[in-house]
Amino acid sequence: MSYLPATLNLRDEDITALITEYKEYHASPELSLQEFETTRKIRERAENLVLAPGVEREIVPIGETGTVVILRNGEGPVVAYRADIDALPILEQTGLDYASEARGVLDGEDVAVMHGCGHDTHIAMGLKTMDLFARDAESWAGTIEFIFQPGEEGKDGAKLMVSQGLWQSVPRPEALYGQHVFPFTAGTLRVTKNEVTASVDSLKVIVKGKGGHGSQPQDTIDPVILSAYILVRLQSVVSREVGPLDSAVVTCGYLHAGKKENIIPDQAEFRLSIRSASQKIREEVLHKVIRIIRSECQASGADEPEIENYHASNIVMNDVALSEKLTETFTQELGEELVTFDPDYRLMGSEDFGELGDAANIPYTFWMLGGFSDEHLNAEVPISNHSPFFAPLPDPTLSVGVRAAAAAIYSHVRKD
Ligand SMILES: [Zn+2]
Ligand SMILES: [Zn+2]
Repeated sequence: MSYLPATLNLRDEDITALITEYKEYHASPELSLQEFETTRKIRERAENLVLAPGVEREIVPIGETGTVVILRNGEGPVVAYRADIDALPILEQTGLDYASEARGVLDGEDVAVMHGCGHDTHIAMGLKTMDLFARDAESWAGTIEFIFQPGEEGKDGAKLMVSQGLWQSVPRPEALYGQHVFPFTAGTLRVTKNEVTASVDSLKVIVKGKGGHGSQPQDTIDPVILSAYILVRLQSVVSREVGPLDSAVVTCGYLHAGKKENIIPDQAEFRLSIRSASQKIREEVLHKVIRIIRSECQASGADEPEIENYHASNIVMNDVALSEKLTETFTQELGEELVTFDPDYRLMGSEDFGELGDAANIPYTFWMLGGFSDEHLNAEVPISNHSPFFAPLPDPTLSVGVRAAAAAIYSHVRKD
């Protein structure tokens, strides 16, 4: 069973090199928008590609840590594939011999860094897919763009690349693809259509109180109590103001006020992560959240709060025709047992992949790649992305991911 021509197949030595390269990236993660060494390696790797006669390569840096590698092979369609490259402030606890010991600086603080979301698999798979097309001039014609995107983890790297002139610097593709490794059976694929991920809005809120002595609350406006009221009441947005069949999440993952128990501080800061499953719900929930924050401040006699939406991503909305065709392509390449088309499959997590396509009205599909063993999946605490134990199985995850990426690209640039 195969969709890809023999010239685009992975050889044994490719699989070995793919796993080795993956482990190198796993051991040297870098935080969002600080992917300097990662980017240097990706660009160097693209410089050293083995090119079949006729295949041309162009390396287009976008900003400091964004890169597009373009392969051209005569006239034909343009297609793009994206891999995100950043890692997270997590102390790795996998115990693997290639585990990360890297450190980074986050908001001025020294932190452990780990590829806890599998973007290292995305880099390695992107590079290997690039190898396959670079060394084969016979089976395809057109232009392939490999987008290595920084800052996916909460730093709006996709929007940044767009604002730095991505689609002015490279030809607009007729389709854009991307994949993400997730905790389900290693080497299997899941494709869905329409909404794939939720939107995210990250709000930074500073409520203004009036500080004073802890023994004289009557002379203060206590921003701690005020924040507590707001945060409890915000939980009623989803439970009381959003319809039971609609989905949204309002989480407060950061709350800070004060220095000492006997001083009532003059302000408090909290940060919210709001996820919504549709654009309509997104607008409604944001409106309600802001209404509650402002009203509670007013109820406490506090000044207007500062509210900043500092990180936002659209819903990843898979193109229906592209997703259905992709499922057929994957099934031909990998066989029915490894490919699931599930139109109801949804994630409340978020991804900024959609921003790349939305910015230039490019149809896109983002699929999920399973990367874990039964042992991981059935563990007492099930594995999840962003866990310190997140370690995809290199084999067969990586080679299936490369075959999927290559098949998606090939479906646009095949010669016959
Ligand atoms: Zn992540
Ligand atoms: Zn991720």
